[in-house]
Amino acid sequence: MTTPSLRTLIEGADLAPLLMMYVQLSGDRAELDRYRPHIRGPWSWMEDAPPALRARLHERCAALLEAIQSGREQAAPPPLPDLLAEMVSTCVGQTVPDEYLPLIAHEMGLAGTPLLDVDWRARPAPQAINDFHVAVIGAGESGLGMSIKLARLGLRYTIFEKNPTVGGIWFENQYPSCGVDTPNHFYQYSFEPNHNWSRYFSPRDELWQYLERVADRYAVRPHIRFNTEVTEAAWSDERACWEIVVREADGTLRHFSAHALVCAVGQLNRPRFPDIEGLDRFAGPAMHTAQWDPSVALDGRRVAMIGTGASGMQVGPSIADRVAQLSIFQRSPHWAVHNPLYHARVEPGKKWALANLPHYASWYRFQLFWASADSLYPSLQVDPGWSTPNLSLNAENHAMRERLIEHIRAEVGDDPTLLAKAVPNYPPYGKRMLRDNGWFRMLRREHVQLITDPIEAIEPDGVRTRGSKHTPADILVLATGFRADRLTWPMKISGRGGVTLRDRWGDDDPRAYLGITVPGFPNFFLMYGPNTNLAHGGSAIFHSECQTRYTLLALREVLERGQRALEVREDVHDEFNRRVDAQHAKMVWAHPGVGSWYKNRRGRVFATSPWRMLDYWNFTRSLDPSEYRFS
Ligand code: NAP
Repeated sequence: MTTPSLRTLIEGADLAPLLMMYVQLSGDRAELDRYRPHIRGPWSWMEDAPPALRARLHERCAALLEAIQSGREQAAPPPLPDLLAEMVSTCVGQTVPDEYLPLIAHEMGLAGTPLLDVDWRARPAPQAINDFHVAVIGAGESGLGMSIKLARLGLRYTIFEKNPTVGGIWFENQYPSCGVDTPNHFYQYSFEPNHNWSRYFSPRDELWQYLERVADRYAVRPHIRFNTEVTEAAWSDERACWEIVVREADGTLRHFSAHALVCAVGQLNRPRFPDIEGLDRFAGPAMHTAQWDPSVALDGRRVAMIGTGASGMQVGPSIADRVAQLSIFQRSPHWAVHNPLYHARVEPGKKWALANLPHYASWYRFQLFWASADSLYPSLQVDPGWSTPNLSLNAENHAMRERLIEHIRAEVGDDPTLLAKAVPNYPPYGKRMLRDNGWFRMLRREHVQLITDPIEAIEPDGVRTRGSKHTPADILVLATGFRADRLTWPMKISGRGGVTLRDRWGDDDPRAYLGITVPGFPNFFLMYGPNTNLAHGGSAIFHSECQTRYTLLALREVLERGQRALEVREDVHDEFNRRVDAQHAKMVWAHPGVGSWYKNRRGRVFATSPWRMLDYWNFTRSLDPSEYRFS
């Protein structure tokens, strides 16, 4: 077998990131003009350069790389801001405002030390660093990422993890077809790129294995107490530390203390069981999607599934082939977008390019960042003069609605009853936007029925809906979501003076400053806390890295000042939440015509961030000590 030439290998790369690599290495900006008309958006299917033009770029890239490798040419210095601005806009086929350049430069490692790596300014005495211990609750993605950065700063930490291994939701959720619906090459740690994802949107096993590998590679595992659930944590003013109670697998209670407490359990940690009469009387197996029992045989059985959110969307089409009957109980439909790459495998040529071509992976990541992030944000703002505010928010949002309906219509065919059931009566993005997993097509199948009548009760052998209509079922699947509203529940977390988070938040109104710090809770930091869920796109990992950075900045401030604790000022916290609410009032998630897990019973949006990813990155890139009280 002959080794393929560099020129041949390059052919597998996508045009836009390859072009950016070329321009970055050569400094030849004229090439941007040549290819710009052929890059119409941030996804690879939006490139339409003719073969001859592609071949030209392949040849140039191969020649340049060989010249640099042999020392005949030198790589150009990193692009200056004006060239960078031109490159980013060309790369995604849209105008990227200049305000994004600092974020992009840092994310791509163009601005010196990556911001995520917080370092000491005036290193405290080794003893002070060594004496400081951080407790982290949860070894999911956020907890692992946080711990890796704590260790980098030299801080000692212990993770308490209720499960037998790492991975959090990616360990727990094992339902069929579970996987990520954020593009995977962006849904990964910035400091640990995986060039080998099998799919653009990878399945759960691969995501979990990635987190397992990260835990080993950064030697996090020895710091984790597995099968150990935190039940209580209380701040002691006298000792300036958190007194933590944990329950081990055999029920033994143990006590620990730590100077800072990071709660990395997130919003989607505890399953929500629907309050439906008779649920406990169902005779067959009944399982929540987050507690899937793979030993339950589905083949040839009648399955009733309640819930049509992101989990239901993945389960339904993946089991439809196997079951005798699938009855789906839908309280309200979700919007779902089609992405041609959703089920596609990453071609070997792409994997090679990601792993081998300089800068290519960074540019590809930037494309995905842009594709899945703030470019949608304007379409989610309410136009006060809009004539059909119940259906859409503004012209762009309406056009999106039309495109989504067109897709549904094409998939469900000429069945007007089914179409009416499948099209939501609220604006796109009002609930979480899903990716169509073959859902609408599945609804057409003979043995699949979409039931929209309200459920009256669960019976031992099925589900009873309005008018006492009985739908028989052997297996019940609850795709009914999570208790995001009861953030940190069932733990009891008490701050200064014994005031608990529940005292502050009530049943369903969690609030924090930047979603991270809470007045009266010194040295306490939330990951994926209130109003940090990303619902217009983006990657939860990007957000968790922002929260990690901010937490490290806070701990650095405490230690460099020779203090014991910091606590956010109540007025700063209140003003931030006032701004959150004011911003939400203009956005899609507060829309009165839609209910979702983003809102509490009073309609306040507590889960979702109203900010652009850029805003949140800016909010968390530095810490203003005047917003905190030190003690
Ligand atoms: P979810 O979005 O909260 O959906 C729950 C579903 O159950 C909704 O359809 C809801 O109806 C229905 N439901 C709840 N209680 C009900 C009741 N008493 N009677 C009838 N229907 C009831 O939960 P999820 O699907 O597990 O997703 C939660 C979040 O997890 C997602 O938004 C996403 O952030 C994350 N997630 C991500 C992925 C992924 O990346 N692919 C996959 C799964 C989950 P209503 O809509 O009418 O309330």
